[in-house]
Amino acid sequence: MATIEALEARMPALFIGHGSPMNAIEENEFSRGLRNLAKQLPKPKAVLCISAHWETEGIAVTAAARPATIHDFHGFPKELFDIRYPAPGNPALARRVAELLGAQLDPERGLDHGSWGVLRIMYPDADVPVLQLSLDATATGPEHYHRAKQLAPLRGQRVLIVGSGNIVHNLRNMDYRQHGGFDWAVRFNEAVKGAIAAGDYERLATFETLTPEARQAVPSREHFLPLLYVLAVKDDSDTVTLFNDKIVMGSIAMTSILLASNALPYKNNALSKHSTW
Ligand code: ZN
Repeated sequence: MATIEALEARMPALFIGHGSPMNAIEENEFSRGLRNLAKQLPKPKAVLCISAHWETEGIAVTAAARPATIHDFHGFPKELFDIRYPAPGNPALARRVAELLGAQLDPERGLDHGSWGVLRIMYPDADVPVLQLSLDATATGPEHYHRAKQLAPLRGQRVLIVGSGNIVHNLRNMDYRQHGGFDWAVRFNEAVKGAIAAGDYERLATFETLTPEARQAVPSREHFLPLLYVLAVKDDSDTVTLFNDKIVMGSIAMTSILLASNALPYKNNALSKHSTW
């Protein structure tokens, strides 16, 4: 039986639906939900973020001591381009992550909006070191899932693992007038939540066949894959809590997931919307 101290020392893990880059600067139900959650988490020693917005051949990890802020979008207001998120890196931790995964160290790469867009809400003072791990474009879904299990020991070293993407992410079908999700988007999001509730994470590694319209919900997989990294580090003492569980513009699921030990005193009612499995 683990002691309370040991459980408290073990960091939660988070999958965050990031949606539009505007969520980084807008005050809305999603930023409030994320901010409220962050206030209840133990302060991490570092964040390891798996963002939808960094794909490489093979695996890479950021190793800069002072990672730059990357503005990897276009057609958004100047206010968004003016943002700098000056969180330090952690080259020693980058070497540890590289060892665990056989990843390449990348001393040049900065932080993309998949990471700073959510982290500036969670840690506005940029006082927590941040690393990013790339998505290996050559790996299959099951390979991503099984490799990610190697990251689990980092939770015991006060590293917060954050997957940043969207369970449903179809920009082509997006409709600003649409309230809630299109039927096919809702079906896929519910199927993912059902598989999580059943603990059937292997099934999610082959998400392409999860529902008949899965290809429409996930036309390209980079926004979905970060979810696998979070589920892969779950263990039996974790409970799974949903927050920001909503589909916007028809085809963007903001649904977010917290894994945390039962022993941690989360006030779930502070979340904008939640259910606990
Ligand atoms: Zn994105």
